[in-house]
Amino acid sequence: MNRRFLFFAWVLVPFCLLAQLALWPDMSASREMVGQFDSEQVARSAAYGDFRYLWFIYRALAAAALLLLLSTRTISHALRVAVDAPGRHPVLTGTLVSILCCIAVQSQSMALGFKAGYLHELEWGFTNQTVAAWVWDALLGRLIGLAYVTAAMAAILFMARRFGRIWWAPSAAFVMIGTVLVLTLQPLVLDPLFDNYTPLAGRPGAEALEELAVEAGVDPSRMSVAETSHRSKKLNAFINGFGPTLRIAFWDTLLDRSRQDEVELVLAHELGHWHHDHVQTGTLIALLGILAMFVVLGGIFPHPEAEDVPALLFTIWLVMMASLPAQNHISRTMETQADWYALELTERFDAYVSAEETLARENLSYLNPPSLAVWFLYTHPPVADRIRMGQERKPPGMRSWRKP
Ligand SMILES: [Zn+2]
Repeated sequence: MNRRFLFFAWVLVPFCLLAQLALWPDMSASREMVGQFDSEQVARSAAYGDFRYLWFIYRALAAAALLLLLSTRTISHALRVAVDAPGRHPVLTGTLVSILCCIAVQSQSMALGFKAGYLHELEWGFTNQTVAAWVWDALLGRLIGLAYVTAAMAAILFMARRFGRIWWAPSAAFVMIGTVLVLTLQPLVLDPLFDNYTPLAGRPGAEALEELAVEAGVDPSRMSVAETSHRSKKLNAFINGFGPTLRIAFWDTLLDRSRQDEVELVLAHELGHWHHDHVQTGTLIALLGILAMFVVLGGIFPHPEAEDVPALLFTIWLVMMASLPAQNHISRTMETQADWYALELTERFDAYVSAEETLARENLSYLNPPSLAVWFLYTHPPVADRIRMGQERKPPGMRSWRKP
């Protein structure tokens, strides 16, 4: 590990985290909101949620410890020697080191993830999967991650030999293009590996949903149904893809187990993301984040080689962790914007509140989450904030959300 890395890890990362304390969410009014639910529901949601946060901390500490270990001079040297062979190209050697490190980190994350991602869900009655099905999904997800990291690391090592000190610029361009490509292809190639997707048309209640989409200026054929009930009992909907593949998908559980007006409000929320170009904006911010990360990497590793690979991976992990509060703050802002759009489009405040309550009840959303967890981990505002917005009929601290 070089001295620049130590400065980064021990000075810059804590400084970045402290600087983001300004993004601490306002949770002051949340406590009066939980009156919507009885005290048993509040306690159950806390028991379910606390465990998940605790395991997030365990997993993060375990990943940090493993990456730190792999980054030590002795281990990174041993890894390089283990995969090196006479006449082997240094880029290939470094890529093999990267694959070994990724497999180590992913094996650890999968072993710990089994407790939090499977056993905990089973205990609370949320999963419909067998152990084998969960393992298959987890392996598939990690294989996709491995392919992405391997391609990026091979590019970094290649660019470092080809371009010298400015390796980070072409590497950033490569990863940015790759990211847009993955996001674009996700609905076509990646999502179907996990769930079956069927058209929305022809399902009960589909016509009203299609009318709502048309009202918001969205082509109804961009909506589909993800058959997730083989996996989970939770309810959800999402927007993903990019450009020509941008689409809205409903989990079949949501369509089967919610009232029609609640599903319409969930759709209106997703239409809000569409209307405000959140996927495009989010992608642009992610690309700028990638560029910033490569500037940091370029500063720490002027000439990355095979033995720097573990420390490179550790740095990337630290950058991701240190920027999580800012990333999630942006995400929560967009979610509030989409909620407000849903209210403006439908003007059905009661159905909005009811949809939030159903989702919170069925998914056992944390009703009174710790501010630290919201600050660090929440991509969506806490359910109490969302319900309060519907009841007060205005977005907190904002004048108008409507795009001109
Ligand atoms: Zn959303």
